[in-house]
Amino acid sequence: MLDTFAMKALSIKEPWISLIAKRKKTIETRTWKTNYRGTLVLVGSKKPEGPYSGKAACFVRLIDCRPMTKDDEEAAKCELYGGAWAWVLEHIRLAPQARIRGRLGIYPAIGICADCEEDYPFNFCFFGDQTRCQKCNERLLKEGKVFGRADGDDVLKLLKEVTGD
Ligand SMILES: [Zn+2]
Repeated sequence: MLDTFAMKALSIKEPWISLIAKRKKTIETRTWKTNYRGTLVLVGSKKPEGPYSGKAACFVRLIDCRPMTKDDEEAAKCELYGGAWAWVLEHIRLAPQARIRGRLGIYPAIGICADCEEDYPFNFCFFGDQTRCQKCNERLLKEGKVFGRADGDDVLKLLKEVTGD
């Protein structure tokens, strides 16, 4: 079975997105909170320009969202400010650098296919090469140019291996 749902995404500006991708920043701060917990793909904002502009940077698990405290400053790589919420991130791992249509807030990750330029739902356990749509992946799979996706358990195992969890 193929995954056809888009995972949830959040856009983040430089230098923060690069710091998170390098696991040097594990708390993102925002002036708004979310009740969502679980996997997110973090996408680099278009501006300012950086290595992840308009592209998926990393997968993370959002495990908490609470008022920021002084103790969070080091992990957040910024000073405490009024109304700040600490978004606590775990299991950070690099994502394939698929082009994603950025939006505000938490939004469905819609990729732009590297081959045909069409929109597709981006997901971390997506079949084939995650920078392409399903149709292009199926074509390349037939040509033996990409591998089929692992099933859900294999993906979780891979995630555990990568994150050391
Ligand atoms: Zn395509």
